[in-house]
Formats: sequence, C-alpha cells, structure tokens
Amino acid sequence: MISFNVPPCVGTELKYLEEAIRAHKISGDGQFTRRCSRWMEEKFGAHKVLLTTSGTAALDMALLLCGLEPGDEVILPSYTFSSTANAAVLAGARLVFVDIRPDTMNIDENKIEAAITERTRAIIVVHYAGVACEMDAIMDIARKHNLKVVEDAAQGVMAKYKGQYLGTIGDFGCYSFHETKNYSMGEGGAIVINDPAYIERAEILREKGTNRSKFFRGEIDKYTWVDFGDSFLPSELNAAYLWAQLERAEEINADRRRSWQAYYEALKPLAEAGKLALPVVPPECEHNGHMFYVKCRDLEERTRFIAFLKERGVGAVFHYVPLHSAPAGRKFGRFAGEDVYTTKESDRLVRLPMYFGLTGEDRKSVIDAVLRFCS
Ligand SMILES: *Cc1c(COP(=O)(O)O)cnc(C)c1O
Repeated sequence: MISFNVPPCVGTELKYLEEAIRAHKISGDGQFTRRCSRWMEEKFGAHKVLLTTSGTAALDMALLLCGLEPGDEVILPSYTFSSTANAAVLAGARLVFVDIRPDTMNIDENKIEAAITERTRAIIVVHYAGVACEMDAIMDIARKHNLKVVEDAAQGVMAKYKGQYLGTIGDFGCYSFHETKNYSMGEGGAIVINDPAYIERAEILREKGTNRSKFFRGEIDKYTWVDFGDSFLPSELNAAYLWAQLERAEEINADRRRSWQAYYEALKPLAEAGKLALPVVPPECEHNGHMFYVKCRDLEERTRFIAFLKERGVGAVFHYVPLHSAPAGRKFGRFAGEDVYTTKESDRLVRLPMYFGLTGEDRKSVIDAVLRFCS
C-alpha cells in the first residue's frame, strides 16, 4: 500500500532529542525552540516567530490578539479545516463564510467586499495546498475597511506570493507542524507576528498570562501574572524533532516539488483530454509541494476513483467537507452570498500520495493507477 502520507523524518531527529534530554531541558523555550524560531525569522524575514503547541493554537493566538468583541464578524472560506473557524469562535466572533475560487480552492478575493458589514473585524485567508491567496487584493480590502488579516499558512510553510514567504504578509501568520504537514514536530505550530506592537502581548498570551519571556531575557528581575493567557508553548522534545527538518528545509521542499512536478507532467495529457482537472498555480505563487490533487467530474466519479485506487494499493483521499454545511458551521456562522464553487469543487477533489521521500517507483504506481482509471 502506498500511503497517502508518511511523517517527515530526516535522520538527525534522535540525535537532537537526545541532546535536549541530556541538557535536562525538555519544557518549552530552550535552545531548540530558539533555533527553530530564529531560523524562521531569518529565513522568512519575519519580525517575530513563536513556536506553539499546534497550528490550531497559533490560529487561536492570532484571533485572540485581534481583540474581537462579542458579535464581531470574521470572514473566512468554508472550504477549510475546523481549526480556522474554531479560532474565530473562541475569540467570540460570528463566522461569515465566503465562496472559493474554483482554480486554487482559495477564498475568492472578489467576493470578500460584499460580505463585509459594520461588524466585520478580520479576514482569515487559507493558503490551500501551499498556493497563496491573492494577497495584494486582500490586503487592499483590509486596509480600506480597517480589518485584521490572519494567514492560515498551515499548509504554506516555505511557499511564496510575489517572492514573499506566506505567513509574513498579513498581520499574523499561522504554521502547522503536524505530522501531515511539510515539516513536523508531531504536534506543533508557530505564529508569525508581523506587527511588532503585538509581540509583547503574544508572549504573555503564550506563557499563561505572565511576562516570563521578558524575565528570561533579563529585561525585568521577577515575573508576574499581567494579563489573560494560556499555555501555547511546545516542549523542547518537539522542537528538537522540528529542528532536524528545518536544517534541511530546502532539500525537503525541493523533493516535494519534484514529486508534484512529476505528477503534473504525467497527468497533463488526461487534463488536456478533459478526463481530470489538475491544480492551478497562478504565476505570482511559488508553491511548496504540500499537496497534489486532481479533480474528478463529480462526487459519484470521485467515490469510484478512490475505491479503484485503493484496490490497486494507492491511498488517495478526499478533503474538507465545507464548514457551512456542518452542524457547528450552521450554529456559529452563515454563508455570505451564493455557494457557487465551495460544495461543487470540494466534492470533486482527491489528494494523491505526497510526502518527503516518496520514491519514483511509488509515484509511477500511483500514476499508472490513475491512467488506468481514466482509460
Ligand atoms: C493542519 C491545518 C490546521 C491545523 O493545524 P494543527 O497543527 O493540526 O492544529 C489548520 N488549518 C489548516 C488549513 C490546516 O491544514
């Protein structure tokens, strides 16, 4: 069986885990956490990066930092993971779902303004499959209406929009290092803070409401409880695992992009013959090979496609069921305008096996199975 996903492991993880254990520093914010966050700050050109316990926690922090009030509204796509929406609910907001574009599966920037009301405070964009949303248009809308922009870049680590790393464009960026993502620490994530004015509040929120981060930097001589907070910092053990991969991030990125390109080239004739649709990457976006999906004609064909691949030992899977049609989506929000593409396009999409180290041989088996289904 060719798995849909294999968690990344480059080989130095155990060495770094052992280092953390021998240093008797396994709680958060030790040397591995510092190495990881500094690496991201330098590589991505970010003001501040804080490791978190998950991508979900990073989103929670970002929405809490937006300072919403009960009844405020947050705009987001319905085609996303529940975490994107939960963060806004936790912060007290009502959800306003906006339709996606059929080409990138990202929020349709041209449908955002119609969804804005006097209660709108923030937009959460999701860079699906590591392909950027149309950030120039979205940032213009946000500036015009004085809205915060949170980038759910859980799938977008190392990907770029017009040369800028995803997560560094909006007010806050959120990464996930879950085992299904390009770089992993088991469970974990990071928040990117692009407006320095929020750094101190973010540190307090992450460290149980205390100013312990300031204390550790020697800026104050004792620490105390200064505001509301939670515990969003991950263990050094998780950070040690992540560090092994960040050191080799370019290699991992290149490997995934090679697999993506190989799928694309092999399946292009099917797309040209109208048998399948392939992912679209707009010229201003540089993707990170997070995901390779194809689109069937409809839900019925997709169900047969997944079963066909499974019989041939290929783990292909569908993705999100639109949140606005889920029980919690109906409870916490509404769809703005018409659902033209969200349900239709999500019903058609299937993800093919994609992970760091996917062999050419396995890729060929996947491609052969897809070709056979279409013939
Ligand atoms: C994975 C993912 C998350 C959640 O990340 P966790 O680290 O699993 O909490 C949120 N949003 C999107 C779009 C994701 O793909």
